[in-house]
Amino acid sequence: MPEKSETVYPWNRDRPFNDFPGFLTDIFGHRVQKLSVDAGFTCPNRDGTKGTGGCTFCDNNTFNPPYCSPRLSITEQLNRGVTFFEHKYPGQDYFAYFQSYTNTYADFNRLVSLYEEALNHPRIIGLVVGTRPDCITPELISYFHDLSKTYYVTVEFGIESVYNRTLERINRGHTFEESSQTIWQCKDKGFLVGAHLIFGLPGESNDDILSGARLISQLPINLLKIHQLQIIKGTAMEKDLRYHPDDFRFFSVDEYIDLLIRFLEIVNPTVVMERFVNVSPPDKIIGPRWGLKNFELVARIEREMLRRNTWQGRLFERNA
Ligand code: SF4
Repeated sequence: MPEKSETVYPWNRDRPFNDFPGFLTDIFGHRVQKLSVDAGFTCPNRDGTKGTGGCTFCDNNTFNPPYCSPRLSITEQLNRGVTFFEHKYPGQDYFAYFQSYTNTYADFNRLVSLYEEALNHPRIIGLVVGTRPDCITPELISYFHDLSKTYYVTVEFGIESVYNRTLERINRGHTFEESSQTIWQCKDKGFLVGAHLIFGLPGESNDDILSGARLISQLPINLLKIHQLQIIKGTAMEKDLRYHPDDFRFFSVDEYIDLLIRFLEIVNPTVVMERFVNVSPPDKIIGPRWGLKNFELVARIEREMLRRNTWQGRLFERNA
């Protein structure tokens, strides 16, 4: 194991990237756990408004932890979530994480009533809402703005790729320009803006992905989640892989770590890195099958960054 770096990082913590747990500890002084809730939403890319069939990689069933079911009220899901985590981290605080499908896709009053049911739970101190960039209204932005005066609030946007040819290929139903415009509209509104990207989408080279780091770094985002493409059994992407195998590649662990580190070197150091990998149950995926747990991969990424004596933002250029 390499020595800890002597570099003083811009985020004033001792990890070579601007890490999410450290960021939360800076704010709250302790650990905070996200609890997923499924409010039973759908998505405009499934119900015909934007498209049908959804994004080709999407299988929302892989997202839901066992305590989370749309058949239960928000309060009951949160109660079960707290029970699930409480034995391991007694007394910790929680955020309600509206995760499945598009969590801003309903009538405004219904949305507010669901978010506020979550915020009225005695153990919840904040809200995290996952959505699409083409699915948020000025009214909702203003609501989140007001809410953020009292609570921690993050709105996470699925960007997935900065290339419209890729977004079209995966049937995403929105463009990168729409992502960019929405994120600029959310700037300085009090709540945090998160973005989600997938590495390894069909037709994208490593150079494409690294160029994406430059574009993403010019947007006013606060949090970034990245993960490797995993092809889930039964999805449209599984069929795409069968018919066009040359358009796909499964990273090896070492290839992925190398690409991720090179990406991180370009990323704006003010962006908090919330996720680097996603590990779905092995029986659900076609590939890649790495046989490692999430925390093991993160530990390897961190070790390799220390070994290379590099860090997030080392090569960042404003207005690159
Ligand atoms: S990934 Fe999100 S936007 Fe795409 S189909 Fe699934 S729920 Fe809808």
